[in-house]
Amino acid sequence: RSSLYRSAPLAGPGVPVNQPAYINAVARLETEVAAEALLDALQAIEARHGRVRGEHWGPRTLDLDLLLYGDQRIDTARLQVPHPGLAARNFVLRPLAEIAPHLEIPGLGPLRDLLARCPPAGLERLPDDKCTL
Ligand code: ADP
Ligand code: MG
Repeated sequence: RSSLYRSAPLAGPGVPVNQPAYINAVARLETEVAAEALLDALQAIEARHGRVRGEHWGPRTLDLDLLLYGDQRIDTARLQVPHPGLAARNFVLRPLAEIAPHLEIPGLGPLRDLLARCPPAGLERLPDDKCTL
């Protein structure tokens, strides 16, 4: 897993204001579970942590997204992989680069190039002693 990264909430039309900071991280895992079943499992973990699906883009206790699934591209009603927000979010690209610096993102190219277009402004890597994972 990557370090934890603290960032201010995204701003923009439709995004509720006055939210607390977010903490993000990326983890890699090896699995034989199919992609949609993996999404079910992630959502079950969110539910166990008290996640209520309320306001879109509002504050949440836990958000587990499936960023990549090997080198597959998936586009179904419930699941898009690579995750559609990946290319534009430094709080995803930065921690991803920490654990997989040479990654090629299916359909999008080298992670390094995406990162160059998405500067790490406003993103703070938390020292490891602040991590309790
Ligand atoms: P957010 O976009 O802030 O992560 P949610 O976690 O509420 O919002 O996700 C909304 C929907 O996004 C989910 O119900 C899920 O079906 C869909 N979704 C599509 N692709 C993905 C993905 N790669 N990872 C997680 N959820 C996804
Ligand atoms: Mg989500």
